[in-house]
Amino acid sequence: MSQSAPRSLHDLGYAGIERELAADGVKRHHAKALHRSLYREGNLDLSRPDFLPPLRQWIERRVGGEKGFTLDAPEVVDETRSSDGLTRKYLLRLQDGQTIETVLMGYDNRLTACISSQAGCAMGCVFCATGQMGFVRHLRPGEIVAQVLHVQRVIRADMPDRRLRNLVFMGMGEPLHNYNSVMHALDIISDCRGVGIGPAFISVSTVGVVPAILRMAEEGLPYNLAVSLHGSSEGERSALIPVSKKWPLADLVEACRSYGATTGRRIFFGWTLIAGKNDSPETAHRLVDLLKGIDSHINLIPLNPTAGFDGTTAQTAAALEFQRIIKEAGIPCTFRQRRGIDVAAGCGQLKANRLHKTA
Ligand code: SF4
Repeated sequence: MSQSAPRSLHDLGYAGIERELAADGVKRHHAKALHRSLYREGNLDLSRPDFLPPLRQWIERRVGGEKGFTLDAPEVVDETRSSDGLTRKYLLRLQDGQTIETVLMGYDNRLTACISSQAGCAMGCVFCATGQMGFVRHLRPGEIVAQVLHVQRVIRADMPDRRLRNLVFMGMGEPLHNYNSVMHALDIISDCRGVGIGPAFISVSTVGVVPAILRMAEEGLPYNLAVSLHGSSEGERSALIPVSKKWPLADLVEACRSYGATTGRRIFFGWTLIAGKNDSPETAHRLVDLLKGIDSHINLIPLNPTAGFDGTTAQTAAALEFQRIIKEAGIPCTFRQRRGIDVAAGCGQLKANRLHKTA
């Protein structure tokens, strides 16, 4: 993190709050009230009458303006809702003016937050609106946590009898390119004293950052891993995902094999079906061979159209045949629902649409 980065209370988590209070001579047990207020209740106003005087005085001294700590309270600059009202997409403005996307997805009787890990993305996947924009910067842990808190506030206000269950990183950015911030944010998010989303309900997705997949296994991190494959030969894959030249398909599959063997966990493979590019029966058969011996689940994803890519989604017959081949080989294979399309829910599309409108 750069020297000039703002210090946010949302970056800290429980241990960090305890440490900061102790450094200023405030007893550690006051951390509980502040942590609960920030992360469980999602409060952005810390002038709480229920705080004891030492904590109130610390907040007066240390939070706001030039006093040291800020809060991550991203501003909603755009919001769209799907026609069925179940999916809501937010364009959020951060303290430095950068905008990111956060989505609340409500289907299959579950509420899922889909969040961003970076402003922009360096991976350059050709079919992705964020990839077409390029990389701006990594998000801090607090900026990642704040997206989940935003979604929880929306749920509390509009659907008070429901709760956020799942978390995925399918907004803007490649989470494993921002490893330390993402994993610190997930420590905070999975803390049952605060946000409280269990690790089993959290998925970290990657386009194939091989060293980081190996690191996740080595560190024994308890989250689900989702790998975007999109091609079963090197040529097929690197035409869609340029970063495949840096981490070739063979290395990626080996890393997944090692991850599976070390963690004993199933890996979810994402596959965006693009007509004529990666939807043939030969590709499906090759995919089956590639994943032999890895406990896998394949999610087939329809292509979300973007202005910068002229591909089209696979025809239904081709998609069903692709799925049949995989399932017949004994690999679970499902279609991801296309809920977001009428709210521009492919990552980067809301921001791209807004840039287009204001250009
Ligand atoms: S698909 Fe994901 S990894 Fe690829 S460019 Fe888009 S945001 Fe980045």
